[in-house]
Amino acid sequence: MRREARAIILEKFNEPLVLRSFPIPNPKEGEVLVKVEAAGVCGSDVHMWEGRDPRTRLPMILGHEGAGEIVEMNGEKKDVHRSPLKIGDKVLWNRAVTCGHCYYCKIKMEPSLCPNRWVYGIHTSCAEPPYLTGNYSEYLLLNQNVDLFKIRPEVNLQVLVPASCSGATAAHAFDLSRMESGDSVLVQGVGPLGIFAVAFAKSFGASEIIAIGGTDDRLKVCQSFGATLNLNRHRLSKKERKEAVMEITHGRGVDVAFEMAGEPDALEESISLVRTGGTCISAGFGEPHGTIDLDCFHDLNRKNLRLQGIWASDVKHTHMALQLVLSRFQDFSKLITHRFPLNKANDAIRAMKTKEAVKAVLIPHG
Ligand SMILES: [Zn+2]
Ligand SMILES: [Zn+2]
Repeated sequence: MRREARAIILEKFNEPLVLRSFPIPNPKEGEVLVKVEAAGVCGSDVHMWEGRDPRTRLPMILGHEGAGEIVEMNGEKKDVHRSPLKIGDKVLWNRAVTCGHCYYCKIKMEPSLCPNRWVYGIHTSCAEPPYLTGNYSEYLLLNQNVDLFKIRPEVNLQVLVPASCSGATAAHAFDLSRMESGDSVLVQGVGPLGIFAVAFAKSFGASEIIAIGGTDDRLKVCQSFGATLNLNRHRLSKKERKEAVMEITHGRGVDVAFEMAGEPDALEESISLVRTGGTCISAGFGEPHGTIDLDCFHDLNRKNLRLQGIWASDVKHTHMALQLVLSRFQDFSKLITHRFPLNKANDAIRAMKTKEAVKAVLIPHG
């Protein structure tokens, strides 16, 4: 194997990513070198490219969603099911590495809140060794503490990559939602995060799933995943949307609302459409993006509202999302609307930014 890998680099915000070559490091004890077969292009990659994410360290290789093949390893490695791994195995990697020893990891069992948590292609720079720390690359060096999921060789890895980010975050939202079978659910925002929320709502036994979004193609995807009512916010006023939600929920509002849009207006509307005693989950804000007006008496106390924020996800949630994707593989295949080779990564970013793509995937060896 030539010990050089091509990767596409973010050097300056809002300027095209550039292709560079890096030496491939030899894995140290516990590390795994993988050939990246599919790297998901996430909405947060677009935000990082625009310089909106305070965690970004230039220069860097973007990409936190990936799957591929083990090509080198140093020492024994097992996946999350304790299956031994070997060279040639197909794997999906959890996007974050946590310390396992802090208050959040050890006492509260909430590793997504670990202050030492870091993510490939988010907190990593390629300025120093081991360089290959983002998924927009031919090869990636995985840390000794990475959590791996072994994937059967016949499975198309491209379909799985969204499970490691938007899927896992949506799973975290459902994990904390206390949603019950028969509940009515609202999903605000119909990007990959919202589409996963619709699919989870269906699998959790929702009676009604109302999707609010601004892109017809994406709303159509929501319908195929089980949305019972689609409301296009460009065609219906806020008042008309409220009437439609109240009509379907016997005048009460929904039992659980999921804000998956990352827009303050969407959160305000979600709160207004939850019934008294209901729950509003907000998972859409991946970076600072504004504030809302909250009527503390009417919207919070009198309503007995449960308002729950969601930050990132744990390996448990990647497992939940992966199982969801595997159980509805044909539906999730349709989520991947655009595929690009590494040198067309700028087109991939554009396709996600303009919402032309529902989900774009880079194929580094394609
Ligand atoms: Zn992401
Ligand atoms: Zn920790």
